[in-house]
Amino acid sequence: MALELSTNEQPYHRLYINGAWRDGTGGRCFEVVEPATGTPIASVASAGAADVDAAVAAAREAFDAGPWPHTPPHERARILHRIADMVEERAFELAEIESRDGGVPIRKTTYNDIPLGLHMLRVFAELARRSPYEPLPWNDFPTLAWSFVWREPVGVCAQIIPWNYTFCMAVWKLGPALSTGNTVVLKPSSLAPLSAIELVRMIDGSGLLPRGVVNLITGPGAEAGELLVAHPGVDKIAFTGSTEVGRKIMAAAAPHIKKVTLELGGKSPSILLPDADLDKAIDGALFGMFYHAGQVCEAGTRCFVHSSHYDEVVERMVARVRQLRIGDPMELETDIGPLISFGQRERVEGYIALGREEGARLALGGGRPHGARYEQGPFLEPTIFTHVSNRSRLAQEEIFGPVLAVIRYEELGEAVAMANDSRYGLAASVWSRDLQQAIEVARRLRTGTVWVNDHHVLNPYAPFGGFKESGIGREMGVAGLMEYTEPKHIHVDFQQRRSGKLWWDALLPPEGEE
Ligand code: NAP
Ligand code: MG
Repeated sequence: MALELSTNEQPYHRLYINGAWRDGTGGRCFEVVEPATGTPIASVASAGAADVDAAVAAAREAFDAGPWPHTPPHERARILHRIADMVEERAFELAEIESRDGGVPIRKTTYNDIPLGLHMLRVFAELARRSPYEPLPWNDFPTLAWSFVWREPVGVCAQIIPWNYTFCMAVWKLGPALSTGNTVVLKPSSLAPLSAIELVRMIDGSGLLPRGVVNLITGPGAEAGELLVAHPGVDKIAFTGSTEVGRKIMAAAAPHIKKVTLELGGKSPSILLPDADLDKAIDGALFGMFYHAGQVCEAGTRCFVHSSHYDEVVERMVARVRQLRIGDPMELETDIGPLISFGQRERVEGYIALGREEGARLALGGGRPHGARYEQGPFLEPTIFTHVSNRSRLAQEEIFGPVLAVIRYEELGEAVAMANDSRYGLAASVWSRDLQQAIEVARRLRTGTVWVNDHHVLNPYAPFGGFKESGIGREMGVAGLMEYTEPKHIHVDFQQRRSGKLWWDALLPPEGEE
């Protein structure tokens, strides 16, 4: 069953700066393409240096002189809830936009991505009511004083997001920044910016935020993105994307000691313990791997299977994946859509060739699906490699496509050691009927999230982020919120007599005074 698509003319999206929509300098723009069909579906303004300057200046002014940082938390919460209401009303339309733009199966955007983004927005609204006041334990040395912490917004936040979960990513960035009183310049990926643009349009339409609090620039990372992160008017950079670009961003943040949070790549393990319920563990591990064609940062791309049932698991996995339907993301039956771009498919195919060269055995897939319906887009078969060495490049490098490496282990300790033998540390899943053992394994894994008998489930109250080269800082939860605040210590002196004060050591009281 195909869903009805809007038939509007190809829309043109401008930049949103200081509360107004405007063209990029020189009128430059770029085309956004629907991956499944190769059809251009929108053109979008491309920001140059003058636009980035204007966007940062607007956010700066809104932060330094505007009301938003001082708006009471309950009022910020109310506004975020109102924006969430608007998202809720247009949820289906947003799902359609996200599916067409990113090649994401419509079942996923309808039942997960947009409802999840909405849920997160409401949680950030709720968290906005957290008091900025934090009491401290009583401390009377060296003098009597009352001390407390006041949480203040960091300032102007540059927020850069990738193409694979555009709507949720935009919410993860805007939600905590706004709920704590920051101002923002958001830059979505040129490959799939549309649902983020739509969210900003809703924010604009609500008329609830002061001018300049939210600004949107679009354009390639190598230009608009680099200009934004290097801009001296930016106080904090929040980036989600590849580890490679994350490194550049850290370097760009150094000259002005900007705060950075980075959510980067992964090579997440799923470990099937010998006692796992195989029916669930096989489906779960495959879900962990092939959700959104493996274009998910926390995808379970290395599956560790005990040698006692390695062959059985591989056989069952291959049979199960054969049942998955590759196709048009707009069809409800589709399990796996296209990759985001032809360039991405080429990159993934390069890894499939490498896997063969490295001596891994191709158990399934490895090629492009045949048929006219697959000709216009970068479709790729879900691919399973067996007999993979954990030290091979196939098992060490992030592929960001539908390629699973199944790795054999003999002892649980060996599985944990191999799982941890990675420069990444984003997430992991452990599959077992024995929860005590599963939790013990979870505690030994060097990753920011561990799921037991599940994968991919994001909890807006839980911190999400990476150990090692998977990132710095956390998003979501109170930890994520705190990344958008500066803790300020306020000390109120209680000591009446000069002789009791700290200064007495340095400045003896004048004669006749105590
Ligand atoms: P990417 O190439 O790093 O791009 C991410 C974003 O950064 C895009 O908006 C991109 O803009 C921009 N950008 C590129 N070069 C830049 C530069 N030099 N300076 C500033 N901005 C720049 O990543 P991607 O290919 O879009 O996304 C896939 C990667 O993201 C994977 O590695 C994946 O693991 C990671 N990811 C991580 C998480 C997480 O939470 N940890 C979540 C999702 C994805 P343009 O696209 O417009 O060029
Ligand atoms: Mg696109």
